[in-house]
Amino acid sequence: MSPKMGAEDPLKVPSPGPLDKPEKPALRLRSVSKNYGSVVAVAGVDLLVNEGEFFTLLGPSGSGKTTLLRLIAGFERPDAGRIELGGRDITSVPPHLRDTNTVFQDYALFPHMSVADNIGYGLRVKGVSRQAREKRVQRALAMVRLAGLGHRRPNQLSGGQRQRVALARAVVNEPEVLLLDEPLGALDLKLRQEMQIELKQIQQRVGITFVYVTHDQEEALTMSDRLAVMANGQIEQIGSPVEVYERPATEFVAGFIGISNVLLRNGVRFVVRPEKIQMVAEGEHAPAGMTVENGQVVEVIYVGMSSRYVVRLDRGEQLVAVRQNMDAVGDARKFEGRPVRLAWTPDDTYVLDNGR
Ligand code: ADP
Ligand code: MG
Repeated sequence: MSPKMGAEDPLKVPSPGPLDKPEKPALRLRSVSKNYGSVVAVAGVDLLVNEGEFFTLLGPSGSGKTTLLRLIAGFERPDAGRIELGGRDITSVPPHLRDTNTVFQDYALFPHMSVADNIGYGLRVKGVSRQAREKRVQRALAMVRLAGLGHRRPNQLSGGQRQRVALARAVVNEPEVLLLDEPLGALDLKLRQEMQIELKQIQQRVGITFVYVTHDQEEALTMSDRLAVMANGQIEQIGSPVEVYERPATEFVAGFIGISNVLLRNGVRFVVRPEKIQMVAEGEHAPAGMTVENGQVVEVIYVGMSSRYVVRLDRGEQLVAVRQNMDAVGDARKFEGRPVRLAWTPDDTYVLDNGR
């Protein structure tokens, strides 16, 4: 499959809105490939990330996200292709001479050093004076809301605090591009959601370009200005969260981002998102202009605020519909096994241009 399968040409700079400042590419990848023996980890990736953008690489485990990030950081050399940072070819520049910094999932903090020394380490290596270093470290500590904790050791911090130290340590170097490989992966759900918002706010404040790796679709949709959905070392689609969710370019994207409700009718394959499906009760009429199909509820899954209804259509496919839980707890369950009609407007469907 062509890596340009997505709805837009990945090499085309998205046109700025009338009031936006003109977009400038911070990072550009041209036909980048990397194999490990017979394993194709990255297969001809074209990518353009704009200055100040929060850009996410989203894909399942093994899709090549980490390899792509390591290629950008310089820890790996591509077998083919070209990498440009701020318009300069850096394909064969070693990692420490690239204007990038990486935040890893395991943070990789030095355990024997204080938090402040961890954060200031990169500046010390660069020969920044002690005075200037201390000032910048204090600023970085305040930025990640850890002021006053500079003297602690990493093992005297919580997981979320350690994550913020790792972030401060990278941001303090003011890299052109900050690379983050599943940095919230080790945190529990609640903390992860808090950190998602915090990380995004920090990014907006410092204005550094972020390339962020995650396998979590919700995280990607929440945080990104744009994202690239990856599968098998290739990019399936690049777009804003809304574009990728509302107009998935491929069946893979439709299934990976949200629940895959794919139907084939009259030779046309299309997606209809669960929240766009109305369940029409017995005796009720579906509003005019809606497509209506008969089926049977095979399962009701209670997910707190809402319930998911798995419906087997009489024509064979299974669809998932979502309804808010208005009734008393557990009432949704009584629909299990019942006949039901599902309705949607053609405007709320999205035609897939390829089937996989
Ligand atoms: P992701 O980060 O999306 O989970 P990776 O980039 O880690 O994916 O891996 C992509 C593919 O390359 C996988 O099939 C993985 O097994 C393989 N791979 C990654 N690193 C190596 C390596 N050092 N040696 C051999 N195969 C590797
Ligand atoms: Mg990975």
